Amino acid sequence: MTAGQSAAVNATATSFVRVAVGRGIDRHPEGLVYSVPADLGAIDLGDHVAVPLGRGHASVDGVVVAVGGAELAGPEIPAEKIKSVRAVYRDTPPLPQILVRLAQWVASYYCTPIGVTLQSITPSAVRAGIGRTTRLMVDLTQPQPDGSVHPSRRRVLDALAAMPASQRPCEARDLAAAAGARTLAAVRALVRSGHLTAIHQTTVQAKWRSGLDMDGTPPALTPAQQLIVDSVGGVLGSFSQHLLFGVTGSGKTEVYLRLAERVLLQGKSVLWLVPEIALTPQAAGRVMARLPKHRIAILHSGLTAAQRHEQWLAAGSGEPKVVLGARSAVFAPIPDGQLGLVVVDEEHDSSYKQDQAPRYHGRDVAIRRAHLAECPVLLGSATPSLESWWNATRRSVATLHRLPERAPGLVVPRVDVVDFRAESMLHTDRRVRLIGPSMEHGLRRALEGDGQAIVLLNRRGYANWIACPDHACGWTLQCDHCEAGMVVHQLPEERGRRITRCHHCGAEQRVPSQCPRCSKRVCIFGLGTQKVEEELQRMFPELHAAAGIARVDSDTMERAEDFHQVLGRFARGEIRLLLGTQMIAKGLDFPKVQMVGVISADTALNMPDFRASERTYQLVAQVSGRCGRGNAGGRAVIQTFQPDADAIQFAARGDYEGFARSEVELRERHGLPPVHRMARIIVRHHSQSEANRIAAALRGGLVALPESRGSRVREPVPCAIARIADRWRVQVEVIAETAGALQRLIAAARSRGIVKPGEVMAVDIDPAALL
Ligand code: ADP
Ligand code: ZN
Ligand code: ZN
Repeated sequence: MTAGQSAAVNATATSFVRVAVGRGIDRHPEGLVYSVPADLGAIDLGDHVAVPLGRGHASVDGVVVAVGGAELAGPEIPAEKIKSVRAVYRDTPPLPQILVRLAQWVASYYCTPIGVTLQSITPSAVRAGIGRTTRLMVDLTQPQPDGSVHPSRRRVLDALAAMPASQRPCEARDLAAAAGARTLAAVRALVRSGHLTAIHQTTVQAKWRSGLDMDGTPPALTPAQQLIVDSVGGVLGSFSQHLLFGVTGSGKTEVYLRLAERVLLQGKSVLWLVPEIALTPQAAGRVMARLPKHRIAILHSGLTAAQRHEQWLAAGSGEPKVVLGARSAVFAPIPDGQLGLVVVDEEHDSSYKQDQAPRYHGRDVAIRRAHLAECPVLLGSATPSLESWWNATRRSVATLHRLPERAPGLVVPRVDVVDFRAESMLHTDRRVRLIGPSMEHGLRRALEGDGQAIVLLNRRGYANWIACPDHACGWTLQCDHCEAGMVVHQLPEERGRRITRCHHCGAEQRVPSQCPRCSKRVCIFGLGTQKVEEELQRMFPELHAAAGIARVDSDTMERAEDFHQVLGRFARGEIRLLLGTQMIAKGLDFPKVQMVGVISADTALNMPDFRASERTYQLVAQVSGRCGRGNAGGRAVIQTFQPDADAIQFAARGDYEGFARSEVELRERHGLPPVHRMARIIVRHHSQSEANRIAAALRGGLVALPESRGSRVREPVPCAIARIADRWRVQVEVIAETAGALQRLIAAARSRGIVKPGEVMAVDIDPAALL
């Protein structure tokens, strides 16, 4: 960024601004006050500025979050102590005002200084001004503006006019070359003078479009779909919240597409959020194929810095568009007044919650954004979060729409729950098997025809537990830096060699052969994706030889691109059996998948978290929903040690409402979310006793506040993972009856210095996971 100087003196110049700087100063959580010298010109909310900071008056960049008079400073700060803004970056587009307000809400609600919040929502490439990779395409403006042009520019216009229509619009660089110009100066000048129309085409769009052969023909909507499109389409232009509860494959995406089309035709933009890993070329390609005339900006974490910058600028452009992206796209800089609809697909997905400050929930921020933009927000899921279900059924803040049946042509999968114990006991060769006879049978049937199959195991690695076989000894291999066991991984390049890795801090150790306490030979227990892969390879040797089996987890898929490549091979039928972690449980839509297997539903069920049942229901229902999308039928086999667990039984019957009723009742009885609201404050410290002391003082401070009346502040307890990367973790849970009561308590504690968000204290409002 370069500081633009403005010589214009504005007589009505604002005299004071509040600026958010990107440093975590919790003493000024709302930003720092500066005066504005008159020669800087008009300054507005969202402007990027340079300000002096600290004793050394070092120049730092920030964003203007409030403008006003001397009252901004308040009586505490003497006028002569207030420093002045140094420069305004006129060539960086200001943040839309709604985005500034949204950031302020996030900062306050999620207890994060405004500077940190703004820093985390603006891609660093944008802040650093990293090069754009947009290609400038140009075309002749019709009609051509009057007036004569410079001969060098005339040559450019003539060169373009001489090109066949199929070559237009033409890339600026090629045009300059065709006109014999060495630089783009003449082309740029013509764009400025209005003789050429500029069309910015981004490289990302080109990439996502490539290699996809998507059908752009829309199906006729079913009456149920039409009803929802009309209902939400009828209230565009003001805020309202909608929950679309539609079973997997019921045509929810079709509903979003129709509504998006309607909004675009009104000249407005759509913000469309999907969970990170559901943002596949398949999903993006479908949107692009169906809305070919419109601009689609795509934002997700797999982009390079330059691509991110480019997409961010595309989202901020003046034309109507769809901004499609994962969690952080909720902060896309769509210009004020342009947003017409917000869609949150798979709204239950826990990847919407950010696990570092600001610990925001993308869905809840999306609702807030729609509120600020005065447009509807549509949340969709086959397994709504109980928060959204509660809002739609008990609090009436959201309208519930249902799509109870699968779209025409799709069948409802048959779901079989099998008792893991009974199944594995059938084996007589003493080798413990992870794939029981029911699942094997199902896989064979699907694969012997021309079908495909998906096998899910929620745990990567080879095995997850290294221990002494002697119970009396009881030794297990733990991470040196975390209170967690090590996971065994097979090194692919060196067959047979194994290492152990900690999934929390990444530390590695060699697999010991002997128990360090009693010297017995260690045993490796448990299961991981690598072990299941080996078993599948033995079970289907021919398929394995033909490279028809693939494993997808964060060990094999380091970049989004790897994942997309595997999905492409699966779509083309080169891979027929896909094995993986929850990466493959959601969003995939492949008609030839006839069989889905869940190796162990217990991983989710046994989590030390009050949402364990909810997560299990979601997992089983979502993964089962991946099959039966063609006409060959679908079958899901769910292996579990707890076949009678409610979540599993309800999911096998596909009875979400029954599950929700029983689970909400339980949460009501225990005063847990969504009925009440929770904050979780985690104290982290290298010293265990210090962590305990700080947590105890924190709890004492909270209960002493009058604002805590009516709320429960629980005794400090060690977190489920009591130490990560050498820091001990102790948590204090706060449960209040309403969001408002919780906010008042936390705000009071923060202003008195009882709660200090930062390195030592992490404040998580509405926590999504309790590890
Ligand atoms: P969901 O998002 O609920 O999982 P999709 O919108 O992906 O459902 O629809 C599942 C499949 O059914 C897609 O292949 C889609 O093209 C198709 N589909 C959706 N609506 C209809 C319809 N009204 N008629 C025929 N096919 C449809
Ligand atoms: Zn560790
Ligand atoms: Zn031992």
